[in-house]
Amino acid sequence: MAWRCTGKSNMELVENLKQAGIITKQRVVDAMNKIDRGDYAPRGAYLDEPQSIGYGATISAPHMHGYALDMMEEFLQPGMRALDVGSGSGYLTACMAEMVGPEGQVIGIEHIEQLVEASERNLSKEHPDWLENGRVKFVAGDGRKGYPEGEFYDCIHVGAASSDKPTELLRQLKSPGRCFVPVGGMLQKIIVYDKDKHGNIREKPEMGVMYVPLTDKNKQYPGGFNP
Ligand code: SAH
Repeated sequence: MAWRCTGKSNMELVENLKQAGIITKQRVVDAMNKIDRGDYAPRGAYLDEPQSIGYGATISAPHMHGYALDMMEEFLQPGMRALDVGSGSGYLTACMAEMVGPEGQVIGIEHIEQLVEASERNLSKEHPDWLENGRVKFVAGDGRKGYPEGEFYDCIHVGAASSDKPTELLRQLKSPGRCFVPVGGMLQKIIVYDKDKHGNIREKPEMGVMYVPLTDKNKQYPGGFNP
């Protein structure tokens, strides 16, 4: 699935993701059309590939962003609250915020302070008001613990691989709520955890993937290299 959706513009990229059947929901198409990846990716923003954003982090490939948004769409309805763990460039956080609308809120948590600042700069190119009015909040911290200050969430997206079942994140989900997370070490799979209205959790394994690990910040970025 990788590489094949590359476009020459944001619109062409989104159209290719739609044609390939990766994004199937019109609200996802609209959100990805509204948020220009060019504001978030350092270069080649419309290539369907993950790219380094420094500090041992990557902006995920467009097909992964599209796939995740499509899976989470039901839980990114207007007025809903969401958490984006490992928010990196801030691109996906912005798409999620577009979908939950002005009454909703999305919190992006990222453990590299420089990336938190970069994500704020990226979002400010088009939507400085979202940071001012709190529709989007980027915080620095260890996303493995979630962000209890903002609980509970309709939707939690995790942009880095968790070594095992992310129980603390699942606790911070509403009933009902959905968590999209890559789980595993060398071999990873996307797992979609659905919490029903009674609080019961069902897990559904989806496709095999390769994400950077959800880890300690000193392990990921000992400070030895400059992006
Ligand atoms: N979804 C983002 C970033 C994906 S890369 C994007 O597409 O731009 C995964 C991100 O998770 C990296 O930015 C990395 O710094 C972050 N990360 C890894 N471990 C983390 C942890 N324990 N807490 C918070 N963020 C973490």
